[in-house]
Parts: sequence; C-alpha cells; structure tokens
Amino acid sequence: MHAPLERIDEVTWELPSCYRRDMRVPVRIFADEALIESALHDRCLEQLVNVATLHGVVRHVLAMPDVHEGYGFPVGGVAATALPDGVISPGGIGFDVNCGVRLLVSTLRATDVAHALPAVMHEISRSIPTGYGHGGRTALDDAEMDRVLAGGAQYLVRERHAGIADDLDHIESGGMLPGAEPALVSERARTRGRDQLGTLGGGNHFLEVQRVAHVHDEALATRLGIAEGQVTVLIHTGSRGLGHQVCTDFVRRMDERSDALGIVLPDRQLACAPLSSPEGRDYLAAMAAAANFAFANRQTITHAVRAIFARMLHTLGDPTLRLVYDVAHNVAKIERYPEGELCVHRKGATRALGPSSDDLAPALRGIGQPVLIPGSMGTASLVMVGRDASAGLSFSSACHGAGRVMSRGAARRAIQGHVLRHQLEARGIVVKCPSSPELAEEAPLAYKDVDRVVDVVERAGIATKVARLEPIGVLKG
Ligand code: 5GP
Ligand code: MN
Ligand code: MN
Repeated sequence: MHAPLERIDEVTWELPSCYRRDMRVPVRIFADEALIESALHDRCLEQLVNVATLHGVVRHVLAMPDVHEGYGFPVGGVAATALPDGVISPGGIGFDVNCGVRLLVSTLRATDVAHALPAVMHEISRSIPTGYGHGGRTALDDAEMDRVLAGGAQYLVRERHAGIADDLDHIESGGMLPGAEPALVSERARTRGRDQLGTLGGGNHFLEVQRVAHVHDEALATRLGIAEGQVTVLIHTGSRGLGHQVCTDFVRRMDERSDALGIVLPDRQLACAPLSSPEGRDYLAAMAAAANFAFANRQTITHAVRAIFARMLHTLGDPTLRLVYDVAHNVAKIERYPEGELCVHRKGATRALGPSSDDLAPALRGIGQPVLIPGSMGTASLVMVGRDASAGLSFSSACHGAGRVMSRGAARRAIQGHVLRHQLEARGIVVKCPSSPELAEEAPLAYKDVDRVVDVVERAGIATKVARLEPIGVLKG
C-alpha cells in the first residue's frame, strides 16, 4: 500500500480520514524513518485503516513504533470507541487476553549470582511448565476457577497467600479487572485453562533473569528501587488457552450476530458489537475474567520463582524479589478522556499513565506508571515511565516490545536454533528452551531494534527511559 502519509513531526505520521471513504478518523503512526519503512512492509497500515471505520471510534487510530500485522487489528495498535454505543472488538484485544509483562527486582548483584545461575535456571525450568498445550501439576475445580476469574491476583494474594499485599499496589488495576463475570467463560475455555495456572505457554513467552546494565534516569530509577548491577526477573505470559478460547467464542458470536446488529465490516476478523449490546457487554465481562486469570498466572509464577530464589540464593544476600510492576499489553479498558468515557483497545500496547494521573496507585503518584518493554533474548529490555502528555498523544499508551520484523518461518530459515544457542551461551547467557527450532523463531534478528523503538516513544513525549536490562538467563515458552 503506497499511502499518502503526512509527516506531522519527527516521529509522528498521519493518514488523513479522507484516504478511504469509510474511515471515520485519521490513522497516526509513531515511528522514525526506518521504522515507518518496515511498518509499510506488511498489511498493518491497511488494518489500521480498517480499524478507523469502526463504529464509535474517536480522535485517531494509533500505531506504536513496534506495530506489525495481526488478526484483524495490528499488534501495536490502539483504538478508542465512545460509550455507550461504540463497538468493542475482540480482535482489538487479541487472542492472548491480558498477555503482559511483570518485572521483579532483587538487591542481589548479578556478579554475585553468576556462578549459581545455571542451577537456578535449571530449577526454574523444572518448576514452570512451558509449551503451547502444556499444563501444570494442579487442576482448578469449578469453584476455585470462579474465584480466580473474579479476583485475579487479588484473590491469590489475599486468600491463597501467593504473594504480599504490596504486590497488589504494583499491578495494573490492582491485579483485578472489575466487572468480571466467570459465568460468561465457556466450559471449553475453562477446560483449556484448568491446569494452566502457573504455566508460561509457548513461543514468544519467556521468563528472563537479567542484570540492570544501565540506568538512564537516576532519580526515577531510585524511586522504582532499581540500581545498576542488580538482578531482575522479567516474566512475559498471559491467559493461556483460556483467554484464547474466550476470544474465539466471542469472535464467532459477534460474527454470527453482525447482520442483526447492523454491522458492516471491511474485514470479518474485526467482528465487533456495540458496548451497549448484550454481546458487547458479555465480551467485556468475559474478557475481564480472562484478564484476571492472566494476572493470577503471573502471580503464581512469581510465587514459584520467589521460592527458588529464597531456597538457592539466600547465602549470597537478601533473595527477596520485589514487584516493580505488572502491565497488561492485550486488553480493553473503560477510561475517561475529554471526549467522555471511552473503551480503549490496546493490542500489543502498554498503558503509560503519567505522574499526575488519578488512576495511578498511590505508590506511583509523582513517578508515573512503569512501562515495561521487552526487546529480545539477545539484546535488551527497557523500563520506562509514562508522562502526562501521553493522555493527549496516545490515550495514555506506549509500545509493548521491539515488534516482529520477520515471520516465525523466515526466522527459522535465517538462523539455526543450536547456532543461536551457542551464540547466546558464548555471551554468558544461560538458555533453557525445549526445542531449537522454536528458539530460532524468537531470534533477536526476528525483532526490530528495541532502542530505536523506545527512542521514538521517548521523543514523542509518551514515556521516559529509566533503565536498560540485559539477559543473563532465559527460559523460553
Ligand atoms: P508479544 O507480546 O507481541 O508476543 O511480544 C512482546 C515483545 O517481547 C516482542 O515484541 C519482543 O520484542 C519481545 N521478546 C520476545 N522474546 C523475547 C525474549 O526472549 N526476551 C526478551 N527480553 N524479549 C523478548
Ligand atoms: Mn501472549
Ligand atoms: Mn505478549
């Protein structure tokens, strides 16, 4: 697609709403010259244009610098629809509802734990199941499943003691999205998720042990308790098969009802329903339940890793792992903006509230919401914090990663998994991955340059860089 993109400033591009007759709002992309070039290689611009036709969409449809093509709606896309009658689209949230990232930090120093790391990674890989279909050791009965779906990480911390109260102040939405209705999560979804609490999942998901390689902003890092040389743990996973099935169920239900709802779409993958319709309301409530399952999943994994650190590293210093933050990057939320109450779809995008936001937990007021941006297993990941300008620039949203440039197949053809493993190990990174081809699919060369991506977010005024984390041990899903 050769589109007449207008350059608004160094890092912002716009496709006006006159570009296609059915567009209701313009499309905006945050990118520099190299990133805009790579964004135009796949169908993501066309998908953004399609999203701009959705009923009730306001202001503009946005793409973050890590944008790439996804199911109906691009990964790295943000769109807000006005209540009460604007639509909600499951494809605008993604199949892995509340896929997200959680950062834990210890006061241990990376140089002190290096000799113990292979054994620690071995223990972590033994106690956290990985792989697509794989479950854990315990299966939730229906009553327990209902409590997890309704209460998320709050339930696990308060009733199951799988964490401390302080954790909840450092999870988006306190670890529990309101309005969840467990009864709307289908039997099939429950069956798929029943034994998956505390599991990482396949492919792109990971648990990484890292060191703080560089602090970009001393004052902010100190306030978040991050200092150079420390050991951190970054966990990336979501709602597993349960969330996938919730998305599947509602895409089908909305698609079947589209004629009755009077919805005409440029792409069936954008199946949607007004937020005021039974389908829209039910999806929002089922999505919240799946999101709570994901918060509980990351909490369960945290609990397991904390136990391993306590058992194996206590002789080296304080093995406590403090939760810095847990962000969702596949979720829709009802938020207030000058336009009124909006349903903000973030798919492969992170919320990035600024320091003055009323929605911040008290512990983060005056700092801003941490924005966690994984890069790749061979490069780096970034911690940023949101700025107040993000509300006007991007519905308080930032990027969620480096973003893919290469398909899984292309990555597998470009590099062999065992070669990559040797390259990483030669740099002192402990690698745990069940299969070499799957490792290759996640090779650093399959992703964009994370530094370039976060520079765009910073230059746009959305978020500020705080610290750079580099991997020392990787467990791949
Ligand atoms: P997604 O949620 O879209 O699957 O992935 C989020 C981001 O995670 C990707 O855009 C990529 O930049 C990053 N990523 C993928 N694998 C790894 C890994 O093993 N380690 C780190 N630190 N980041 C990764
Ligand atoms: Mn995911
Ligand atoms: Mn993800």
